[in-house]
Amino acid sequence: MTTRRDFLRQSLLGTAGLTVLGGLANTAEAAAAKEPIKLTILHTNDMHSRIEPFPDNGGQWAGLGGMARRAALIKDIRSKEANVLLLDSGDIFQGTPYFNFFGGELEYKLMSEMKYDASTLGNHDFDNGLDGLMRQLPNATFPFLIANYDFSKTPLAGRFAPYKVFEKQGVRIGVFGLGIQLAGLVGDKNFGATEYLDPVAKATETVAQLRGAEKCDLVICLSHLGYKYESAKIDDRKLAAQVSGIDLILGGHTHTFMDAPEPIASPDGKPTLINQVGWSGINLGRLDYEFSPKTKRAGLASASVVPVRAAC
Ligand SMILES: [Zn+2]
Repeated sequence: MTTRRDFLRQSLLGTAGLTVLGGLANTAEAAAAKEPIKLTILHTNDMHSRIEPFPDNGGQWAGLGGMARRAALIKDIRSKEANVLLLDSGDIFQGTPYFNFFGGELEYKLMSEMKYDASTLGNHDFDNGLDGLMRQLPNATFPFLIANYDFSKTPLAGRFAPYKVFEKQGVRIGVFGLGIQLAGLVGDKNFGATEYLDPVAKATETVAQLRGAEKCDLVICLSHLGYKYESAKIDDRKLAAQVSGIDLILGGHTHTFMDAPEPIASPDGKPTLINQVGWSGINLGRLDYEFSPKTKRAGLASASVVPVRAAC
């Protein structure tokens, strides 16, 4: 039996009520469809086992850095931003006794707690050899992306992917990694049968895959090649000038402190941005992108270098 109250409720929901609700939903949807989709990219490089801040008598960097502070900073940004990617450009290992005693366990565990989305491999990540690296991999919940090392003849065969695609509100972000030539930088027995492949050729191939079959709207390279060399040695600037289709190179190895990302014209005329934020977790790099909800075209809205210090 239908009571008067039920009848009223049903009528309201059945007609005017639903229309009003539907109208509101449509308006909100329409507004949302016009709003740009935001993406915040946070990045580090060459953290070199710096778990704690530099000591107060630590010279130039006294009191700076520290993974607990970085974690708090990242947590705060995540609480305010819907879409965050946290990336690292290698040389996580080596530099403090934490590495000598625990072999990188702490670094990977803390990065996992901070929810890093991906890293690449630096030369120092081979400092305990392939076995040392392999032992620590289970402590990392994030992937190591590397397109130009071939591990197929080593115990690490099949453990790394060249790239990963992340999707945020329908925007597809392709992230791939490039490593530096290991011979001469790392003891031969530490990298064993790992084969170094030409970064320009591998980048060209990977970008074609990411822009093509993977339909990426933004392509990011995590590079441990180094920012700039006067010699012919490949670096981030030369890579940007030789390979089209990379939006952003997040670099490492040269411990370069950049105040703002540097644009380099790629062969197709479009700019590739390069950024690097020093070393040891002194700074956290932040780039905020906005994407058109219709075309998914990316634009850099702002870039900043966030110092990791006690106040934060
Ligand atoms: Zn390095």
